Amino acid sequence: MTNLTPILEAARQAAKLCYEVQQRHIVKSEKQGREPVTIADYGSQAIICRAIKQHFPDDAVMAEESGQQFRELVADEQKAQIVALISEILGVETNAEEIADWLDFGAGKEARQMWVIDPIDGTKGFLAERHYVIAVGLMHDRKPVGGVLAAPAYPNYEGGALFYAIDGKAYMESLSGTGEDRKEISASENADTTQLRTLESVEKSHAGMEQMAEVRELAGIPDDLLIKIDSMEKYARIAAGDGDLYLRLPRLNSDRGHSIWDHAAGVAIVFAAGGKATDVDGTPLDFSEGTTLKNYGVVVSNGRAHDAIIDAIQKVINKDTQ
Ligand code: AMP
Ligand code: MG
Repeated sequence: MTNLTPILEAARQAAKLCYEVQQRHIVKSEKQGREPVTIADYGSQAIICRAIKQHFPDDAVMAEESGQQFRELVADEQKAQIVALISEILGVETNAEEIADWLDFGAGKEARQMWVIDPIDGTKGFLAERHYVIAVGLMHDRKPVGGVLAAPAYPNYEGGALFYAIDGKAYMESLSGTGEDRKEISASENADTTQLRTLESVEKSHAGMEQMAEVRELAGIPDDLLIKIDSMEKYARIAAGDGDLYLRLPRLNSDRGHSIWDHAAGVAIVFAAGGKATDVDGTPLDFSEGTTLKNYGVVVSNGRAHDAIIDAIQKVINKDTQ
């Protein structure tokens, strides 16, 4: 049994760092390829990897950012800002070289237990002050079995909510508290496809919006039940019963895969809450190799409505390939 407590604490500290970066307006995004990355991405990952190094020194880590990028892409002035923020939040002295080492902790290692980190999922949402999460998944033999999602913009929770799953159960509590309002959560029981509160990405470049709209139309999901929201907060909403369906079909002709760190934590939490997550044909999500899922799309639901949605997706996909 893995004790998640140090990772919950690290996720809270990482969320504090992200908040401070936003409040002090020192957020600056650099493009590496097509993806934005901010100093908060590095700071958040460093804090989480440091906790893994301290508490789970034998484990493997798969994380979105790397020490090399931090060393090479981040200007000295920004490195100094991250050093100062991490020192302040953790109450320990550190330096840029130690941070770069933390960022790479456990990378490339083979171990039965692997932590999967997206230090800021939904960076575009973070930059636009919409929704984002800090995500830490836990895999055993490459299967998601636990995870933590810190969601600073989660509705109805002042300061956001913290979600986690361990030993087959899912929980949520205030991100700003210390667990005093912890409660077990479960997915909704809504099976009527015309009532499904459906979650999709905000960013048009991230998913096949037209096909997803066709699926909703075919399944009878009214437009007013559609919620566009950044990040893995979509998974948290399904797990908490605050949403019923999350659709993620790829853009047509896109060969970009789904990164493992964009799904592992969310899938574990949804499973523990009684929901389902599969590919578009109902087959399991496959985390077994590399850094991307061996799947075409991702469909997440409360479980009750899953088969009906898979049917609708298959009809849309088959029509479009004929
Ligand atoms: P969301 O807000 O749910 O779209 O999730 C944000 C995540 O989507 C980020 O981690 C991006 O790296 C990822 N992403 C960006 N473009 C794509 C794409 N074409 N296919 C799949 N994921 C993407
Ligand atoms: Mg991400």
